[in-house]
Amino acid sequence: MNFSRFQILLGHAWRPGGCGGFPLGRHSSRWLAWTALLLLPLLGKAAGGGTAVPPAAQAAAGEKTAFSAEETRGVWMWSSDVRQEGAEAAAERLSRYHINKVYFLVKGLSGRVCYPSKLVPAGRSDRDELKEILEACHKRHIEVHAWFIFHSDGVWARSHPEDVMCLAGKRGAWDQGPQPAKDAQTAHICPLSEDYRAHFKGLIQEVLDRYPVDGIHLDCIRYTDMLYCFCPRHQALAATNGIDVAKVREAIYKTLYSPKKNSEYYFDLYRAGDRDVTGWVHMREGEIDRMVKEVRALVKTKSPSLVLSAAFMPEGGELDDAYALCHYAQNYATAGSLLDYILPMSYHKTYGKSPAWVAQIAQNAGQKSHRPVYSGIQAYGKDSPGMEREAKDNAGRAMPKNLSPQELRETILAVEKQGIKGFVLFRYGSLTDQMWEDLPL
Ligand SMILES: [Zn+2]
Repeated sequence: MNFSRFQILLGHAWRPGGCGGFPLGRHSSRWLAWTALLLLPLLGKAAGGGTAVPPAAQAAAGEKTAFSAEETRGVWMWSSDVRQEGAEAAAERLSRYHINKVYFLVKGLSGRVCYPSKLVPAGRSDRDELKEILEACHKRHIEVHAWFIFHSDGVWARSHPEDVMCLAGKRGAWDQGPQPAKDAQTAHICPLSEDYRAHFKGLIQEVLDRYPVDGIHLDCIRYTDMLYCFCPRHQALAATNGIDVAKVREAIYKTLYSPKKNSEYYFDLYRAGDRDVTGWVHMREGEIDRMVKEVRALVKTKSPSLVLSAAFMPEGGELDDAYALCHYAQNYATAGSLLDYILPMSYHKTYGKSPAWVAQIAQNAGQKSHRPVYSGIQAYGKDSPGMEREAKDNAGRAMPKNLSPQELRETILAVEKQGIKGFVLFRYGSLTDQMWEDLPL
């Protein structure tokens, strides 16, 4: 295993971002939109696509591009962006650059929320930022999806310390019993806590009942890494399933801690079908799958037309997904298949990959999940004021590397060329003016 990558993952480097312009679909959808705009009143129905609208006619209509419902030009957005810029100005910018979906952070790692909740304290303002962005975006026909982070919650950790995840720990400390992480920033909550699951779903229900959101967007719906969770609940469940927990811990020790460590040891045991390691990995996957299933039931009960999506780690889109399953327990084939669509956080530059990798991950992910997949694209061009503090609340410590406007444009075009039907940029506040200007249409 690549330890530098592992360190970044602990800090949750990855956030979804977004989207693209897409050749075939774009032409037909442009035609449909133009037709709908100008001819519908005369014809009473839309024509069936085909002939592209002449550029002069588009210019006359002020219509540079359009996207059908299946195509996504999205951004992930923090509530701090609304506080700093104002919802109207932000939505106007989104509209100008033809963004049609916003994934708006409602609950970050801190556990606080950006609206007046009856369940948890508000974040850094007493404004209702969710209401503000919804009103500004909906009048411009931009969807707003409420974005919730699952695996960490500082507010919950302070009031329920017994629910904080426990580390595998080094071998010399095993006889001291399970140890929760001491770092206050890593308030990872054990997914076996039924109280936390109910709390998480309660927040989603509260948003669904009070706001006309277009969907729920799950993030960090996974483990942070293989070091967790060895709490008493997990040890008991493993015993019930006939899993030798000591053997699992030993394998983690040999992979990460031993002076003679073999960074592939745990993954090789998994690939070889080792009974205890595979049992442990599948048990953790089952916890995540069940959470997605429960949220789906809640969302679809509210309205079948509401969308459930999620940001997934990109390694699960690799053909060999042992790394992702062993660390994150996030399975595109099982949890992914429960979603209406998936956004892999394929931030290629931070991973040292090419733009072609972004498209490849989306294609693999679609084949595994049988769901639509839109590429999450890293779109960091600047650091905004206060970002460090916000990042701790929202998305962890490590941040993706910066891209140039040209690199962002090339990545979107590479994704488009491979037929991926959408992109989501991570994240709204990190794009420079030039990056916005250079977005492909
Ligand atoms: Zn646990």
